[in-house]
Amino acid sequence: MAYDPENIFAKILRGEIPCNKVYEDDYALSFHDINPQAPIHVLVIPKGAYVSMDDFSAKASDAEMVGFIKAVGNTARELGLSDPGYRILANHGPDSHQEVPHLHIHIFGG
Ligand code: AMP
Repeated sequence: MAYDPENIFAKILRGEIPCNKVYEDDYALSFHDINPQAPIHVLVIPKGAYVSMDDFSAKASDAEMVGFIKAVGNTARELGLSDPGYRILANHGPDSHQEVPHLHIHIFGG
């Protein structure tokens, strides 16, 4: 599946639509999910154009991979979730019901 630069998370990355930001660095942006499924529900997305974990794990550079994973941990710490704990999840493709075709890791807490 080719990357669609008009997907909603690409627009958030370009600043064309707003988000409720939690964390940002050179590799990733984190923001609150618009339709939370837990008391704390945050999405972490890489800044690069990757459809899903399948695409990212095949094509991203080592630096992008390290940066993205670190950003997931930094986001959870920023949210104060290290001690109480949290769940992470990423959907890839139709069988998972992935809705937005830009890689995102869900963080669920609380
Ligand atoms: P998935 O089913 O894994 O593709 O999850 C997509 C997630 O993106 C859902 O939990 C949506 O609630 C969330 N979402 C969609 N649009 C926005 C938006 N503009 N800002 C924040 N979260 C969004």
